[in-house]
Amino acid sequence: MTALTSITRTYTFCAAHRLHTDQLPDDVNQHIFGKCNNPNGHGHNYTVQVTIQGALNVTTGLVTDVETLDQIVHEHVVARFDHQHLNFDQAFQGLTTTGENLARLIWELLVDRIPSGQLENIRVVETRDNFFDYVGDPKP
Ligand SMILES: [Zn+2]
Repeated sequence: MTALTSITRTYTFCAAHRLHTDQLPDDVNQHIFGKCNNPNGHGHNYTVQVTIQGALNVTTGLVTDVETLDQIVHEHVVARFDHQHLNFDQAFQGLTTTGENLARLIWELLVDRIPSGQLENIRVVETRDNFFDYVGDPKP
């Protein structure tokens, strides 16, 4: 059995959203999502924690190429969502902009792009009291 180590990197972006689904009537949306359903939306300072697991490179002592990982996350996640309204993002058409769905989307955006090691977990911290973890299928 190979020993596995993990590294977690933290990234931040600011974005707006409104929790709402067209598949439910307005009063039900209001009941489920409360003030997060307000039509004008609201913003969060999101923190995303990306955890990579892998065998430790004995020469470098590293699990993954952190500089490359940073570039990938900035290009595909931070640049895409920072100072945007998540409800207008193409990936959220027909999908509520919950932390759960955002964590899943970020997994899908990154899973095939990890320089070395495997994506192990995506954590989206939305507020002081809310965070969401997503573990999807590993890279085939
Ligand atoms: Zn919110």
